[in-house]
Amino acid sequence: MLNYHSYETFSTQDWPWIRMVFFLQGCPFRCLYCQNPDTISTDKNKHISKEKILKLVYKEREYIKDGWVTFSWWECLLQIKELIPVLKLLKENWFHTCLDTNGFILNDDVKEALKYTDHVLPDIKWITPLLHEKVTWTSNMTSLDFIRYIDEQWMNYWIRYVVVPWLTDNEVDIKKVWEFIQTLKNFQKINLLKYHTMAVSKRKELWREYPLKWIPAAWDEDIQKVKRILSKYTNPDTIEW
Ligand code: SF4
Repeated sequence: MLNYHSYETFSTQDWPWIRMVFFLQGCPFRCLYCQNPDTISTDKNKHISKEKILKLVYKEREYIKDGWVTFSWWECLLQIKELIPVLKLLKENWFHTCLDTNGFILNDDVKEALKYTDHVLPDIKWITPLLHEKVTWTSNMTSLDFIRYIDEQWMNYWIRYVVVPWLTDNEVDIKKVWEFIQTLKNFQKINLLKYHTMAVSKRKELWREYPLKWIPAAWDEDIQKVKRILSKYTNPDTIEW
């Protein structure tokens, strides 16, 4: 049984194709700019079986037939043992599977789950280790190793990068992201996501004095700025937003 937060049957957000998304519960990160703080706690328990997931996916198959069944938020790898049979079952029924993850864990179970995964959406929260720890309260070492691993396995993946004005949109950091990407053999795309402020009130429950209250939501111009910087190093066709 997977511990989940909710699911969305027709998601086109942050992704070019229609997908059905299951949002799992529990995250070891504490991103200052978390957009889903109510999914962090592992105390909340709402369970769903693989059979129920398959039934729900079948119900929506007309819409998602060219799309994907995605397991998201964060960290879906925390439930990797429960996720393996779900992914297997979906693949046996010819559905595309996708993991939207921070790559927080890289062990034999994760490697097994990746055998039944068609696409991965790994995040780079912050490329500089020290700043990553300050912003997410966790190290990015395994997350970067996770990307290196799926790259070595020639898996399909898009790297995701949240554009937070004044924090992650500067030339120095973006150049470092690109330097990391350059070490990969099978890089396909980087997917820029807009930071938004919709969850600020929920975040205030986590941080009494909310540290990013002075940061505005990202606009198209902010994304364009990051795209311009990245375009100095890579083909603009590899930048998605
Ligand atoms: S990875 Fe960060 S943004 Fe995503 S749910 Fe966890 S704390 Fe929130």
